[in-house]
Amino acid sequence: MDNGMIICQNPAAFHYYRGRVALYALLRSSGINSGDHVAVQAFTCLAVPEAILAVGAIPIYVDIEPTGFNMDVDDLEHKLTPQTRAVIVQHTYGIPADMDRIATITEKFKMPIIEDCCHTIVSKYKGKSVGSFGVGSFYSYEWGKPVVAGIGGSAVVIEDSLCEKVKGAYASYKYPALINQAKIELQYKAFSILYQPSLYWPVRSLFRWLGSLGLAESNYNPVGQGRIAADFSLRMSPPVQRRMMCKLHSLERQTRHSRWVSDQYRQCINSVSVSHPTLSVECNVIFVRYPLIVRDKPKLLAAVRRAGVELAEWYATPVHPLSGRQLSIVHYEPGSCPNAETRCAQVVTLPTHAAVSKRDIERAVQFLNQYEM
Ligand SMILES: *Cc1c(COP(=O)(O)O)cnc(C)c1O
Repeated sequence: MDNGMIICQNPAAFHYYRGRVALYALLRSSGINSGDHVAVQAFTCLAVPEAILAVGAIPIYVDIEPTGFNMDVDDLEHKLTPQTRAVIVQHTYGIPADMDRIATITEKFKMPIIEDCCHTIVSKYKGKSVGSFGVGSFYSYEWGKPVVAGIGGSAVVIEDSLCEKVKGAYASYKYPALINQAKIELQYKAFSILYQPSLYWPVRSLFRWLGSLGLAESNYNPVGQGRIAADFSLRMSPPVQRRMMCKLHSLERQTRHSRWVSDQYRQCINSVSVSHPTLSVECNVIFVRYPLIVRDKPKLLAAVRRAGVELAEWYATPVHPLSGRQLSIVHYEPGSCPNAETRCAQVVTLPTHAAVSKRDIERAVQFLNQYEM
């Protein structure tokens, strides 16, 4: 089956305002309540704890593997308590998490898995698609995701009784106000025209500036204000839904392109100061972005900006983009996940999206191979 169909023509797929709203809907319908704990890997973005906090639960942060980007199974076992009610498993950058080992722990504790598939729709773990290992999974369609449709997210429910509950609750989710829908449409059009790797840095600055003025829908809601953002009562707007369906039907083409781009990076980037991700032969990985471990991340990011090469910093902190005192608001204790913190200080990611051309790849490869770290 073409994997876009997992979402497109699936009666167990529900579409929300954002990916985090889809996660919120899954958590709520799973009966997770005030004071419950939900395990999630550090080395994630604020959107995930935002959804956990919105149901009133407390995020428990699990460290990532000593050399990878996904949940460390030993640390998961160590962090679970009788209060933990669910585990969110993220397939970072499109690299599948070690589902067999994670399942041995969650089965022992009889704990449901929700898969965070925001970075991949089609990667496979031991021949089986991500998103098919837990009680449900969620997806996102904003900028930087495998399928870009504006702002939106889906929940795909695997477990039947959970599906009935999610379906029942779905009726109470409203469409965004028309003015909000118009803003998303404008933003989508502007980005489609402007966004290409060579304009990454100026477009990013423009987007942040518009976001600070409230003219663009920014990626994160303010944290720690003790109230639930209005986003969590909304479903996907109709134009976003039409675009999402259309793009999911041609997912195959995007997948081929991503694979070609990441293969080029893998073959051609050979600088001694850069390390490529280690991949298991049991996985088929489609990268949403291609991660590299570098020696001096701040220096490299400053230099790359001048060179007009698209290189993203995420994740820059264990709960990106929070730092310092803000981390305690989302219950992250600095020092509690050392691998995640180390990885944040070292990782940069190259794009694999549809606008990446041969020329962009050559420019990135040349820059990295010649750059002295
Ligand atoms: C983007 C993303 C989300 C949330 O998506 P939104 O649509 O912005 O709410 C969740 N998890 C991961 C890993 C993401 O990259």
